[in-house]
Formats: sequence, structure tokens, C-alpha cells
Amino acid sequence: MSAPALRVAHLYPRLMNIYGDRGNIMCLRRRCEARGIGFELTDLSTGDRLDPAAFDLIFAGGAQDREQRGVAEDLLATKAAAVREAVERDVVLLAVCGAYQLFGRSYRESTGVELPGAGIFDLRTEHPGPGAKRCIGNIVAEWGAPDGTTRTIVGFENHGGRTRLGPGARPLARVRRGFGNNGEDGTEGAVYRNAIGTYIHGSLLPKNPALADHLIATALRRRHGEVALAPIDDRAELRAHEAALRLR
Ligand code: GLN
Repeated sequence: MSAPALRVAHLYPRLMNIYGDRGNIMCLRRRCEARGIGFELTDLSTGDRLDPAAFDLIFAGGAQDREQRGVAEDLLATKAAAVREAVERDVVLLAVCGAYQLFGRSYRESTGVELPGAGIFDLRTEHPGPGAKRCIGNIVAEWGAPDGTTRTIVGFENHGGRTRLGPGARPLARVRRGFGNNGEDGTEGAVYRNAIGTYIHGSLLPKNPALADHLIATALRRRHGEVALAPIDDRAELRAHEAALRLR
């Protein structure tokens, strides 16, 4: 069998990229290349169409409301149906903050304008209005990892929108410190099939290497079967993770 390669689509890399979200792509590349796994990256921007069969992993980051509005329109016109199809085929999706909101059923802006979402996650997000306190700060959440252990996920969040999950989505993690989905029900992020949505920037994957490897292994499994991910030197990543656990 030919050496496996991870085919990654990065949606709206310029419009949806805050608080280091692009670092997730750099992290995936490094963790693949360190193991001799190919890494093929395609940027898809406004107007570009997405072939649901062409990718193993789709990533989109966060944005302010202004960028989000334009992206919401383009997403529905050119990509939402294809991303939905890809997710139904068990392609991995990682959507952070603004993208997480847009991949739900709807996002109500602080102005009250309601943007329809791509409907991948069964959730709705509402921004309570311009005067409302934003959910800002360092976040620690507890994630039930696929190996049965509970692991911490660390990072940074900054959002006005409050997200509530419907019965078709389950939370990614439980908030230990911070706000997560809405600051009230203790949930953070959402999972549907192999799609993960989260409020965690920071960047997310470099500081949470177990989650990064989970995404890589899941994404490769569809086309290549079980691919053993050789251990790599994560001392720096784990130190960053430990330091983030202590942040206030
Ligand atoms: N505009 C959204 C909000 O403030 C998302 C912000 C973000 O992606 N960081 O709720």
C-alpha cells in the first residue's frame, strides 16, 4: 500500500483566522510529517467549491461578526451541502469558534440579525447583544478521550455568542474553568459523527497533542485502515499544556 497522506481542506484561511487558529494546520502538518505521513493542504476561500470526496479532514477557524456574515452567505451558497455530505461519510471536521457557530443551525448576531447555519451540528447560537459580557479567558475542559481516559483540553476563548446544543449533538467536553458553550450548562463544544466544534483557540491542537492525534488517526482510518501513529517528542507541547492548566 502506498504511504498514507492526510488531505486537508482549510476553509476561509484569511477571513476565519484569529487567536492563532492557523496553528492547528501547522500542528497537523508537523505531526504527519514527523511520522512520514504525507500532508496535502488545500485552501478554499469565498466562491470556491468543496468536493466532499477529496478530503480526509476539513478545518475552519474563528472570526469576528463582520467577517462571519460574509462567510455565512458564501458557506451556504458554495460549501455547506458538500461539508454535510463529507461529514455523513465520516470525514473529520474541526470547526473553531466562529466556524463552530456557523456550522450549527443558526447564529443570531449581537444586532439581532439571524444568520442561517450549515446545519451540521444540532445547535443554535445567540449573541445576547452589544452590551453583554463576552466569554473571554483561558479555558480548561475535560474530554473523554477514545482510549477511555479523561484528558484535559486547554486553550483560550473569546466569544459573545452563547451556544445551546440540541439532542442531535453531544458536548465535546465538560468545562473545568472558563465558559465553554454558554457559561451556564458546563458543556464545551459539540460532536457529531467525526465532526468536532469547539470554542477553544489558542491554538487548540498544538497544546493538546492527544486531540490532534485523535483527529489524524480518525481521518486516516477511512481510507487507510488503522495507521499506527509513532510517538513523537511532545515535551514542549506537554509543557505548554501544563502551563496552560495553571493559568488564571
Ligand atoms: N463572532 C463570534 C462571537 O463573538 C465568534 C468570535 C470568534 O470566533 N472568536 O460570538
